[in-house]
Amino acid sequence: MQLSSYEDLRSQIVSHAITCEEVVRFYLERIDTHGNDNIYITVFHEQALERARTLDRKLSEGGRLGKLFGMPMAIKDNISVKGSRLTCASKILEHYDSLYDATSVQRLEEEDAIFLGKTNMDEFAMGSSNENSAFGNVPNPFDKTRVPGGSSGGSAAAVANGLAMVALGSDTGGSVRQPAGFCDIVGLKPTYGRISRYGLVAFASSFDQIGVLARNCDDAALVLGVMAGKDDRDATSSSHAVSDYFSEMGKVCVEGLKIGVPKEYFPESLNPDVFRIVKGKLSELREQGAELVDITLPDSAYAIAAYYVLVTAEASSNLARFDGARYGYRSVKSEDLAAMYMNSRTEGFGPEVKRRIMLGTYVLSAGYYDTYYKKAQQVRRVFQERYREALEKVDVIAGPTSPFPPFGIGDKTGDPLEMYLADVFTVPASIVGMPAVSVPLGFDNLKLPVGMHLICNFFEEGKLLGIAKQMQRPV
Ligand code: GLN
Repeated sequence: MQLSSYEDLRSQIVSHAITCEEVVRFYLERIDTHGNDNIYITVFHEQALERARTLDRKLSEGGRLGKLFGMPMAIKDNISVKGSRLTCASKILEHYDSLYDATSVQRLEEEDAIFLGKTNMDEFAMGSSNENSAFGNVPNPFDKTRVPGGSSGGSAAAVANGLAMVALGSDTGGSVRQPAGFCDIVGLKPTYGRISRYGLVAFASSFDQIGVLARNCDDAALVLGVMAGKDDRDATSSSHAVSDYFSEMGKVCVEGLKIGVPKEYFPESLNPDVFRIVKGKLSELREQGAELVDITLPDSAYAIAAYYVLVTAEASSNLARFDGARYGYRSVKSEDLAAMYMNSRTEGFGPEVKRRIMLGTYVLSAGYYDTYYKKAQQVRRVFQERYREALEKVDVIAGPTSPFPPFGIGDKTGDPLEMYLADVFTVPASIVGMPAVSVPLGFDNLKLPVGMHLICNFFEEGKLLGIAKQMQRPV
């Protein structure tokens, strides 16, 4: 069965060469025989088959076929699908069922996508390796001793292993792009507010954005187009008109394209293979007529610090709702209300989540608010100005997705600051809210994937994907 593009799959379904039920059986079989990689937290065996049969009936009766008719998808387990488990890979929500559909999920369903299940992730989307999950590690599809990236590690591994055609992830500081880079697939984080966050469990609300993991830019554009647009249930969703992404992608031409190459994205500490592969691709584009423009983004060194102050502050407030009374896990051994709150949170949350709640509470506390939180907000504003200025001169900003290839399981768990550095190139686009994508370039000497990271101006997702398409290695 053709796994690489939705267009192929759709034409096979529409021409009655295969049925949706056969497609779903094929994927479920792959999921069930794949081995214990913890990629899915929940598999929708019955629901997916039932839905496939409904779609097959619709096709035979001549009903309207949605834009994603029969597309087999996976959903990160921090996005609500009504009636199914929503764990956020946390013990605290292990037995919690969603009461409603996320707007993104509802829109995908209206266009006839099929959901195969919910994927593993770092607990509450906090992490860069999928190691902070209460449901076990996910191995990298290219080397089982290494991580798939995070926090959307399950979604990336599902697509890369052919256990879903496309997957949804969430991206707060790189959680769609970094695992896409580690798993040799495309990972798109749209402009902040492009896709409704209604039904996405909040980590850091002013950063969170649902993103798409796919094998190619066309599939990512198609799924984005379905989910994008204003939603009355999310006040931060944008009313900016949704573009025709395919026509915008078609307009992109390498000849004359101005690619901004910030020197800060190629520091001396950069892994030499990553440097060679990314620079090599840029030179190739220059030979095809693109103009490489040296730019500088001098404050880049402050990105990680500002990001971790701001997101931990927001997380500490967002996660206050998990108190043992309203959602999920409740400790049974408590004698009074205060002890119940404390024990439920102590037993329910994992170590990284606790670390962030404590950090966030600290930076928001009266004596430190101005020194940390307010300062980081000011840095955020400076970043926004710098990136706006840079994108007045160039079409796109390019660099590596990650400073190193996928690292070994356990290599960075002992040193959280070292782990946080994995996001050094993806965090800036989240700080400013601009769209960004990771696109597969090829493999290093150890046969590990290397991705290119691209940033465009607000709401230029079509152009961004068009440029990415020119860079993607042939699949
Ligand atoms: N790895 C980053 C973090 O731990 C990004 C996470 C994300 O984008 N959800 O915060």
